[in-house]
Amino acid sequence: MSDTQAMQSFQARLRGKLIQAGDPEYDAARKVYNAMIDRRPRMIVRCVDVADVIACVDFARTEGMLLAVRGGGHNGAGLGVCDGGLVIDLSGMRGVRVQSELRTARVGGGCTWGDVDHATHAYGLAAPSGIISTTGVGGLALGGGIGHLSRRYGLSIDNLLEVDVVLADGSVVIANEQKNADLFWAIRGGGGNFGVVTWFQFRLHPVKEIIGGPTFWPLEQAPEVMRWYRDFIRQAPRELNGWFAFLTVPPVPMFPEALHLKKMCGVVWCYCGDPAKAEQVFAPVKNFGPPALYGIHAIPFPALQGVFDGIYPPGHQWYWRADFVNELSDEAIALHCKHAALMPTPQSTMHLYPIDGAVHDVAPGATAFNYRSSGWASVIVGVDPDPANKAKITDWTKGYFDALHPYSAGGAYVNFMMDEGQERVQATYGENYRRLAEVKRKYDPGNLFRVNQNIRPAG
Ligand SMILES: Cc1cc2nc3c(=O)[nH]c(=O)nc-3n(C[C@H](O)[C@H](O)[C@H](O)COP(=O)(O)OP(=O)(O)OC[C@H]3O[C@@H](n4cnc5c(N)ncnc54)[C@H](O)[C@@H]3O)c2cc1C
Repeated sequence: MSDTQAMQSFQARLRGKLIQAGDPEYDAARKVYNAMIDRRPRMIVRCVDVADVIACVDFARTEGMLLAVRGGGHNGAGLGVCDGGLVIDLSGMRGVRVQSELRTARVGGGCTWGDVDHATHAYGLAAPSGIISTTGVGGLALGGGIGHLSRRYGLSIDNLLEVDVVLADGSVVIANEQKNADLFWAIRGGGGNFGVVTWFQFRLHPVKEIIGGPTFWPLEQAPEVMRWYRDFIRQAPRELNGWFAFLTVPPVPMFPEALHLKKMCGVVWCYCGDPAKAEQVFAPVKNFGPPALYGIHAIPFPALQGVFDGIYPPGHQWYWRADFVNELSDEAIALHCKHAALMPTPQSTMHLYPIDGAVHDVAPGATAFNYRSSGWASVIVGVDPDPANKAKITDWTKGYFDALHPYSAGGAYVNFMMDEGQERVQATYGENYRRLAEVKRKYDPGNLFRVNQNIRPAG
């Protein structure tokens, strides 16, 4: 078949829109959340159904084209887009069906977490996700999924019941604990390495209104706050999640004007337990310091999920570095405080997400997500709207990471990594890497799905 014929028969199989260079939508369609990424695919297909996804996978495989899969487009390393290949854009596949009596939801492969929260909140239910509503379900859930509900209900993958996957050979399979159990094990942490997930099925939990929000302390108090937070969160009830941050207070009405643009440290809390016990649970938080801002209120869960959306819109420059950490030693805390004081731009930040509670209930080998027994997932992110500040945010992030990496557990959360090479991917999957490579050989021997933190098929 000639190239033109192949292209024509491909187009005839599609219901979704095919966008190529020169089309009016091309530049908007190739943009991802991180404006540091500027890639020019040969074509982008806005798939509307599973049949479109199969057609794209078949075409990329038979034509030997590089293939990228875009869920929410949030990945820091820009893994939802590629240069010169075909992009499967799932943003047209965003249906959510809640089965309230079963406490489950079927979620389209291109949904954002905002789509899921919107649908589940109506039933007083929620799925464990992240901390920003615009992030894609696809990338976040396949990498693990760390967020406000992790201590109580585990990672997103710990609540994943089933997936529909389009494999590299164009076939569609269901994977769960019984069917294709090896694939189900691998996709829970192994990212998009094994196929395109067109449907997710999640377990939901009775979470409607939570009690939470931020507490801030002056940066000068950061060493004591960090030490207190380290000891407090470990013994706090699971219903209370709190992630630590260094930040610059955004100049928005939500925060007192006296704090605007001040560098501070803080914790963002989410309590999903019995409201009658909230005062007692939060008493140590209210009394420590006390905080310069105590912003704890009863709010709908989706409101907490959306609270940072406006502060971090798409189109900024982002540079990420991350590690899992087992312990936060006083020495490491001193280094954190030193580098935090040098935060180069108002949106640059450092977060420490607790990895404990329900996350520790699942054995490290039970899913592909490694480092379950660590204490925190740390991430340092240089962020700024101005491309002229690219070097400034990158240098700060790298310098901070280099100083703290010796105190880490060795690998990082895949969803917080940039393009850092095979050694780093292997360090991240640790003991699970070999098994992942075997599963990869079985389901994607030609490594068609390689625009990701790549697991190479076992030789
Ligand atoms: C502002 C911001 C906040 C974040 N907060 C959190 C957080 O709280 N918790 C957390 O765990 N992570 C968080 N992350 C990290 C996030 O999990 C990753 O960036 C993730 O890759 C985003 O998924 P996506 O679908 O939006 O990305 P994309 O860029 O679309 O895709 C990322 C990777 O996943 C693959 N992929 C996406 N969808 C599918 C699918 N349906 N089937 C197969 N492969 C797929 C892609 O091929 C690609 O390799 C955050 C990121 C940002 C930018």
